[in-house]
Amino acid sequence: MKPTPAQKTTPLVSPASAAVVRDAPTQLFIGGEWVSAKEDRTFEVVDPSTGDVIATVSDGDIGDGISAVDAAEKAGAVWKATSPRRRSDVLMKCFHLVLEQAEWLAQLITVENGKALADARSEVSYAAEFFRWYAEEAVRAPGEFGPAPSGANQIIVNHEPIGIAVLVTPWNFPAAMATRKMAPALAAGCTCVLKPAAETPLTALAIGEIMRQAGVPAGVVNIVTTRKAGPVVSAMLHDKRVRKLSFTGSTGVGRTLLREAADQVVSCSMELGGNAPFVVFDDADLETAVAGAMVAKMRNGGEACTAANRFYVQKGILGEFTRRFAEEMAALKVGPGLAPDTQLGPLITEAAVAKVERLVDDAVAKGARLVTGGRRLNGDGFYYPPTVLADVSPDAEVLREEIFGPVAPVIAFETEDEVVQMANDTEYGLVSYVFTADLKRALAVAGRLESGMVGINRGVVSDAAAPFGGMKQSGLGREGSHHGMLEYLETKYIAASW
Ligand code: NAD
Repeated sequence: MKPTPAQKTTPLVSPASAAVVRDAPTQLFIGGEWVSAKEDRTFEVVDPSTGDVIATVSDGDIGDGISAVDAAEKAGAVWKATSPRRRSDVLMKCFHLVLEQAEWLAQLITVENGKALADARSEVSYAAEFFRWYAEEAVRAPGEFGPAPSGANQIIVNHEPIGIAVLVTPWNFPAAMATRKMAPALAAGCTCVLKPAAETPLTALAIGEIMRQAGVPAGVVNIVTTRKAGPVVSAMLHDKRVRKLSFTGSTGVGRTLLREAADQVVSCSMELGGNAPFVVFDDADLETAVAGAMVAKMRNGGEACTAANRFYVQKGILGEFTRRFAEEMAALKVGPGLAPDTQLGPLITEAAVAKVERLVDDAVAKGARLVTGGRRLNGDGFYYPPTVLADVSPDAEVLREEIFGPVAPVIAFETEDEVVQMANDTEYGLVSYVFTADLKRALAVAGRLESGMVGINRGVVSDAAAPFGGMKQSGLGREGSHHGMLEYLETKYIAASW
């Protein structure tokens, strides 16, 4: 197939975006109040489909971060003592209110993040599920009781809320990454300060307002938007009252925050970058594999930590898989996220487009063949077309770095041992995908892959009911399921005699 010519639909004019953002809060949320930043500074939020400014949001400083910690401390004792049933009821109310406002939230995500509305709608459902799941988990706090081996005493193990949690989230899932942290924190009895990404603050603030309406007491959730993430988060991590950091973002920033957290020995949960291998064996059902590839690559326009980054395809199925996959990629409709027929929206920023372009150019310079796409789209907005690369050289950067865009490098393999070795040849270990009709082989390969999650014959693994997280430099700890709540609980052992 020849590379498709550069093309793009007409951008939606910004009044549509303006109408969506009109009702979104734009100030800091501290102690149950909407307040301006102490220094009264603001920063601009841009619609990636046009490059237009759609809102200005309060730009918090160190003092605002500390005020948020003050509010979280003030609310802490009462929230900790609030019954699990009551905490559960409030979270369930959040779930219902998010669903009531789902369409508006989805549009808000689209205008500040750029993703296609269909992707934004599924993010809202996923985000809401964390409220429902942790409403159900809140009343199932774990504990243990039993005799010591010596018979001298009883061993009692309780779990207590760990304390004030600082939650730092990325722009790629502005709703779901926030609820995946806030819901288990609140279920566990913790209060928190959320610091959303500066690219997508509006969605987080809107969820804050929904939580206020649902009856989350003042100070239990605080939200500080800022362009100065480094100093503001650092100041909070050096405040002795903060006992937890939950971070989702790049491995580079994660390493910095682990160092920052070391000073006060703050407990860390880290959801970091990925470089997911997508392995297709000869015996895989072709249709299932292509459908899985489309969702593993293109969910969220490729801007997902779980996005398939390297497609390893066994030689017998290579030609047919590549042809069918490239056809489906080329057929995707690219355009502004709010347009009803759009399947792929813009990337988040111009810098993101430049990065993807650099990775594709490097691969082509090292001998890769463009099967489709590969040329930046002209016009406003931060667009890059769906792209498939074949014959990718092992030293191409695209196989090492997180692509975070709609680009799929395809690499041939012959044996199981060879593909396992290539798949594990990365410092990341978030998720892997395996496609084969042989379940015995699928489970054996899943066991050999160095990743925290494996999808077998499916391109999506995310589920509020399952432990999401990575091995190696993809992270520490898990989110979702009962594992996610344990991250916000401290274990207390009591040796009791009577
Ligand atoms: P990023 O690391 O640049 O930023 C993430 C968050 O950290 C943002 O809120 C940002 O403002 C903040 N931040 C940046 N520098 C900071 C500093 N010095 N101190 C404190 N906070 C700082 O990541 P991003 O570009 O927003 O998101 C994309 C990355 O997130 C990708 O690497 C992706 O794989 C990862 N991600 C991981 C998961 C997961 O669950 N493993 C989920 C989604 C995204």
